[in-house]
Amino acid sequence: MSVFQHNEFDDHEHLAFHFDKETGLKAIIAIHNTNLGPSLGGCRMWPYASDEEALNDVLRLSKGMTYKAAMAGLNQGGGKAVIIGEPRKVKTEAMMRAMGRFVDSLGGKYISAEDSGMSVADLKIMAEHSQHIAGTQAKYHVFGEEADGNPAPSTAYGVFVGLRSSVSFALGRDLQGVKVAIQGLGHVGMRLAAHLHKAGAQLFVTDIYPENIDNAVALFAATPVSPEEIYALDVDVFAPCAMGAILNPSSIASLRAKVVAGAANNQLATESMGQVLRDKGILYAPDYVINAGGIIDIYHQKIPSSHEAMRAHVERISNTLLEVYERANALNLPTNMVANQIAEERFGR
Ligand code: NAD
Repeated sequence: MSVFQHNEFDDHEHLAFHFDKETGLKAIIAIHNTNLGPSLGGCRMWPYASDEEALNDVLRLSKGMTYKAAMAGLNQGGGKAVIIGEPRKVKTEAMMRAMGRFVDSLGGKYISAEDSGMSVADLKIMAEHSQHIAGTQAKYHVFGEEADGNPAPSTAYGVFVGLRSSVSFALGRDLQGVKVAIQGLGHVGMRLAAHLHKAGAQLFVTDIYPENIDNAVALFAATPVSPEEIYALDVDVFAPCAMGAILNPSSIASLRAKVVAGAANNQLATESMGQVLRDKGILYAPDYVINAGGIIDIYHQKIPSSHEAMRAHVERISNTLLEVYERANALNLPTNMVANQIAEERFGR
């Protein structure tokens, strides 16, 4: 297993491997870049098929966090942790304690938050062994809805304001009567639907769980569609809020929306899909810019702040997107490439 020659190695500052004999914990922490501040990123627990797969994931995800933090205007760098193992089978309290000690051993250069396979309860155990754990309690919230550590309310609000300015930029109108197709009605998608409904948008929704669809139909007069139908609908906006890699040549070919703006991480199957979207005249809101409400929320929980300051910070996602769109048009480049450029200028690559 190579590290410095690894395909995903990108001048990462620090890579730490840890095995705890007592609990069986096998974990890797990657710190990509700390030019703007200590690195922040989730801890993911996943049954990786190999150490190589875990390394690949932690290198890639930690880099993504540097770009996300820079675009969100945070004094924060990018890092990530992965634990190798099936959470439902091998996770124990003792293992979480060992993970807390591992995070602590880096002396605050990496701050850990929640990710797949980990819960707020796990983070609270880790926090007994390290002060460098974030997202265990919410002091501030965007609209009076207290989050339990999952910052979905802030993420959804950020996607909403970002979607609204994307529509204004691409179509020159507000959200009244705008047709939006939402893929995925989970923590973020359902809250996004509420904001959009309140703003007068007409919703088309799908999920793999029929009860989520039924809720959106009842609450927001949404039109239900099947997961397969969601791409080709005659709508203005496609809002992916489920899984990644959904923008590929075939799904883009069927899109009729003029704007793609949603919460899902890693929406582009490959970076080159940004150009494919641009060629088709579709405005793409780079995922890590529009979905940064969550990390902004976690950041504010760690500093002296207020509900208003946090909400204002989330609302700045709009300005950042407009900066990306204007530069993309001036340089005739896809928005994902321009977002990367601006992020690199900010963190001083
Ligand atoms: P979630 O698991 O609560 O919701 C995802 C929803 O998508 C679920 O209801 C699920 O049933 C549905 N779904 C899964 N596969 C689907 C399919 N093929 N078609 C339609 N629906 C499908 O997750 P979430 O917290 O709402 O996050 C949604 C996305 O946003 C994820 O990609 C996540 O990584 C990203 N994101 C979330 C946050 C956050 O604060 N929660 C922050 C940044 C990014």
